[in-house]
Amino acid sequence: MYRFYINDIDDEYHYLELGRVFLPDDGFEVIPYRGASLSGMLTGNSFFVNEEGSSDRDEIKREFYGLLSDLTGLDPPWGTLTGVRPLKPALEIARSSSVENMKTEMSRRYLISPEKASLLADIASYQIGNIGGVPWEKASIYAGIPFCPTRCAYCSFASNVSPAEEHERYLKDLLKETAYAGRLAKEHGTEIESVYIGGGTPTTLTAEQLSRLITAAAESFSIDPAELEFTVEAGRPDTISEEKLSVLRSLGISRISINPQSMKDETLRLIGRDHSADDIREAYRMASRTGFSVINADLIAGLPGEDEKDFEKSLREIIDLGANNITIHTLSVKRGSRLRESDPGYYRRNTKTVSAMLDISRGILSGAGFSPYYIYRQKHQTAALENVGWCRPGSHSIYNIRIMEDRQTVIGLGAGAVGKVYFPDEDRIERIANVSDHKIYSERFDEMLARKDEYYR
Ligand code: SF4
Repeated sequence: MYRFYINDIDDEYHYLELGRVFLPDDGFEVIPYRGASLSGMLTGNSFFVNEEGSSDRDEIKREFYGLLSDLTGLDPPWGTLTGVRPLKPALEIARSSSVENMKTEMSRRYLISPEKASLLADIASYQIGNIGGVPWEKASIYAGIPFCPTRCAYCSFASNVSPAEEHERYLKDLLKETAYAGRLAKEHGTEIESVYIGGGTPTTLTAEQLSRLITAAAESFSIDPAELEFTVEAGRPDTISEEKLSVLRSLGISRISINPQSMKDETLRLIGRDHSADDIREAYRMASRTGFSVINADLIAGLPGEDEKDFEKSLREIIDLGANNITIHTLSVKRGSRLRESDPGYYRRNTKTVSAMLDISRGILSGAGFSPYYIYRQKHQTAALENVGWCRPGSHSIYNIRIMEDRQTVIGLGAGAVGKVYFPDEDRIERIANVSDHKIYSERFDEMLARKDEYYR
């Protein structure tokens, strides 16, 4: 067990986060310290940090990073940046000076590697060139369908394998919440910029149920799904049918997400999917036949049993299948997932392989005409790496960008939905979360409605 006494800090949170990039949770302690210098007095695995008593958190973190790096021999490429939104500080610097200057400054301030600085530069350039400022007076909508056909081994989301009657009962409440939130939005003149129906797997619902949900959203918020960015996550190919896709298209929806995670049958079995790679291929063909203009695909780097070649093969195949928006995730093994319970340290191994996979994805996607356009990180990701959204020109998702910017209100509907209210004068977000269990959501439904009032209070 390492013990780090850090001089003159108010709380240990940021240092614990940085320590976790290098060491397991039970492998170290951070102890805020004030008093006479401990330098030269500590022995063994105890260390004194910030002897000079600096009040600059970045400077203390740089010193702590150096010490951790010496002790472990690791050199994590995101340096001292532990937050989930690495683009945020980068964009601020790029907008106030230049993208080139941002690269230098991010490396100096946070010790990020030249590769990650250049990734941020590409994303910042895409957003500055194609997205423009945030219309903060508008809002996005997120509606959650917390059902899936089976539960994936790495899943920590609000997702349930439930009988059809529960889907219908849940949908009825969700429609009521949608109508309530829509009425409030209309009363306050809130314009909607984008809608995202996620989960879980929304296409677990029947074609008729999907139609009711989308029609209710359109009527309640006075929107036309054909006129704004409206995405439905179809997620799992075993929930997709020609009938469902045709209904979505007939309602004006042109953006869909089909998420293979891997195109290797053995991996799909291992992670608890109840479908084959052939089912994924067929789902893509169906989506192309039905006429979706944007098809997003998620792939995960670092799935159990996969090497670089498996990953590369999956990526090349989903490009060939016609995905024009691809998110490359680094495996995150969070609490509540089966993988975490069976192998808590899994995400700490495999670092080299996963880094190599991300490098491979960058080369292949850039070469195929994709640009990286959004980025985020999660806790418990292998080597504290990142998730990056890539798109062919123009097929970026505004919703994905807004959700990372934290400068727009998000109206969250349904179990597990986390809404946000943006306060422009203070440039801050307040979260309004619905409960994540769909049964409790229904039991406490009046409370969920009351929470909607908080958006406008
Ligand atoms: S498809 Fe997504 S939400 Fe559903 S079980 Fe798998 S990881 Fe969880």
